[in-house]
Amino acid sequence: MTVPPKISFELFPPRTPEGVAKLPSVIGKLAAAQPEYFSITYGAGGSDQNGTYETLATVVRHSGVKVAPHLTCVGSTRAHIAAQLNRYREAGVKRIVALRGDLPATAMSPAAPGDFHYANELVSFIRETHGDAFKIDVAAYPEMHPQAPSPGADFDNFCRKVEAGADGALTQLFYNADAYFDFMERCAKAGVKIPVVPGIMPITGCANTVRFCSGCGADLPRWVRLRLEELENDKPALVDFGLEVVTRLCETLLGQGAPGLHFYTVNQADPTLGVLKNLKLSAAE
Ligand SMILES: Cc1cc2nc3c(=O)[nH]c(=O)nc-3n(C[C@H](O)[C@H](O)[C@H](O)COP(=O)(O)OP(=O)(O)OC[C@H]3O[C@@H](n4cnc5c(N)ncnc54)[C@H](O)[C@@H]3O)c2cc1C
Repeated sequence: MTVPPKISFELFPPRTPEGVAKLPSVIGKLAAAQPEYFSITYGAGGSDQNGTYETLATVVRHSGVKVAPHLTCVGSTRAHIAAQLNRYREAGVKRIVALRGDLPATAMSPAAPGDFHYANELVSFIRETHGDAFKIDVAAYPEMHPQAPSPGADFDNFCRKVEAGADGALTQLFYNADAYFDFMERCAKAGVKIPVVPGIMPITGCANTVRFCSGCGADLPRWVRLRLEELENDKPALVDFGLEVVTRLCETLLGQGAPGLHFYTVNQADPTLGVLKNLKLSAAE
């Protein structure tokens, strides 16, 4: 019997009163697709740590779907991280997305303030202090993390997170399925058995897609960029094209064994639900 792919959705803590007001309806629409969980981002450097908690509470209140707060560690102390973990545990959270986070390059030097420099240290800390109380997901970069010296070094660092106790991984966004398949081949050769779920960013515009890709080092195929540029002033046609590209990407990934899909929803329900509908994966239909 085929196992249905696991679907999950990422939200971020809204930064405006309008965003806060809209969030319950976004959550309601997305929850109707019966995701396994919602993950909620966490701003590095303390910008929206309470926001993560509040968004988590909103998801629970409006959907009852499981939640996975993101937790970043760079520049933080063991005491601070311990307090966050205790707060989550008391709130009944059972899953954490464990990350390094982004701070200026100086923050990554071994002499930098803070008790953590890389995500594998956070994974080890969670395991040391909470055993198996949390399921831990980590980030994976099929096209290499932009600060890594080489794909091989980055992959070794990914394996460090797995060895530290990660249960699963979510990838950075990508539009080139071959990069994911290559990453999975490397996992198979290295004996990495945890599920690596592709991170999917629906396409809703030209400028934002180009920006997202250049921000994280993802390859936006030239033909996709050219078509998006051509359709920039015809929003309905651009949305249709983006939907088709992302649907095809997801079909290819699932058709060749991806265990699920993790959608970067950017707090919008319709683009993600459009893809799920095309894939016939929306319980909301
Ligand atoms: C699914 C997903 C969710 C995300 N959510 C958030 C979020 O909520 N908030 C946020 O601020 N950011 C988020 N990010 C971005 C993430 O924080 C950045 O990409 C960050 O730069 C790296 O985080 P990481 O956990 O992958 O770091 P790491 O795994 O620590 O890797 C970071 C870099 O250091 C290198 N490295 C790792 N370990 C070592 C080591 N021991 N020695 C030397 N080099 C090493 C790696 O090769 C890589 O180049 C997310 C990214 C993804 C893919």
